[in-house]
Amino acid sequence: MNNKQDELIKWLQEISEVPGPSGFERRVRDLMIRRLDGKCEVLDDKIGSVIFKKQGRAKGPCIMLAAHMDEIGFLVKTVTKEGFLKFVTLGGWWEQVMLGQRVTVMSPKGDIPGVIGSKPPHVLSAEERKKMVMKKEMYIDIGAADKKDAEERMGVTPGVPVVPFTPFTLMANPDLLVSKAWDDRVGCAVLTDILQQLDKIKHPNTVFGVGTVQEEVGCRGAKTSADVIGPHIAIAVDTCIAGDTPGMSEDQASAKLGGGVAVCIYDASLIPHVRLRDFVLETARAAKIPFQLEFSEGGGTDGGRIHLHAQGVPSIVLSVPTRYIHSHNGIISRKDYESTVKLILELVKKLDDKKLQELLG
Ligand SMILES: [Zn+2]
Repeated sequence: MNNKQDELIKWLQEISEVPGPSGFERRVRDLMIRRLDGKCEVLDDKIGSVIFKKQGRAKGPCIMLAAHMDEIGFLVKTVTKEGFLKFVTLGGWWEQVMLGQRVTVMSPKGDIPGVIGSKPPHVLSAEERKKMVMKKEMYIDIGAADKKDAEERMGVTPGVPVVPFTPFTLMANPDLLVSKAWDDRVGCAVLTDILQQLDKIKHPNTVFGVGTVQEEVGCRGAKTSADVIGPHIAIAVDTCIAGDTPGMSEDQASAKLGGGVAVCIYDASLIPHVRLRDFVLETARAAKIPFQLEFSEGGGTDGGRIHLHAQGVPSIVLSVPTRYIHSHNGIISRKDYESTVKLILELVKKLDDKKLQELLG
């Protein structure tokens, strides 16, 4: 691994490990601002999204690149008198991947560890073992002596956010990276990479790299940040489901780890703008960037909100395929990350007023 790759790995570790569930993205935002220190004009909406503006050599089309900073997590709802935390979920969780997992409780006094408690199988009846434990029956154990200890000494009160705890890990195949929150910190990393590289690239556009808030609870920051920018073209950079694991069929999810950037042809919130989609595919082919087509019948992204801004914005989603999305341990391929960065840079180079008119015409 050369130094540049090492540096990227460190950044991917930092940006994926930082806690930031929906509504509590500030630490992610601060990291992105630090990463891009002095390289862009920094704007914002009024609910926490961060907008990095990078002007090309002319005042060409405004391109909005959106990646959401929030990850799925939890919010403390009540503290029991014994000192256990009851919680609501932030974003889409499936019970099967929650029990027995470690979490980070973002106390105002500092992060503290917790465990989503579960009964050992030894005490369950044969009938109980077959049943799924529901979220509302679960709790987080922070090792508090009682409610007072949790609230006063540890600072954990209702309203405190919680995120999965997963140390970033390189797999035995060092191309594959395990961490929490790839959805969508890998998108945030794609954005910062692009904004850094744009310094060396000639193009006539105004590029807005946006770290949006609250995507996982309804793409809220996408709406407000599109209002700030008024984009001509939008690309949501996100993760998609990798369908290359046992039991998954191509019909459920077609993207594969290592197969290249995933170009969305359909999701439940957006039918990508057809001419823009074809332009993206043409560009990938011409630049020999590995890509694959992807669809999602059950999910949406920030693109679903942005394309309905004002009179409409031609939009598409480009994704990094991710295994075990919405769980503690996502896996991505560095190759897919790289082809996503390359393709977007190539698109920015090729876009100008004329191309925009062609797409709209
Ligand atoms: Zn996402």
